[in-house]
Amino acid sequence: MSSEEISKNIEKQESQLMTSGEPEEEKHNEGWNWIYNSPKWHYFVDGKSLCKRWMLFSTPKNLEQGNNNSPDNCKLCRKTLEKRLKNEKRTNRS
Ligand SMILES: [Zn+2]
Repeated sequence: MSSEEISKNIEKQESQLMTSGEPEEEKHNEGWNWIYNSPKWHYFVDGKSLCKRWMLFSTPKNLEQGNNNSPDNCKLCRKTLEKRLKNEKRTNRS
């Protein structure tokens, strides 16, 4: 392998790292989160719970996706999330 080829390979690897680095965090700006003063998990979108009872000052990075039907989840958040998912499907179809 010539030195030119090696430097081309390094460039490729670097550009792959650049593109795969950032969008990961954006995906998790919503999800289930447990807060210490509530016995239930709530679903947060943009720092607000779907049941509108809770607000976070900063979006935590450990928001959990999935597990929507867990009995530990707030009922109101679950209902609102179900509605949201149905609405999303409808808008995707049209
Ligand atoms: Zn809730």
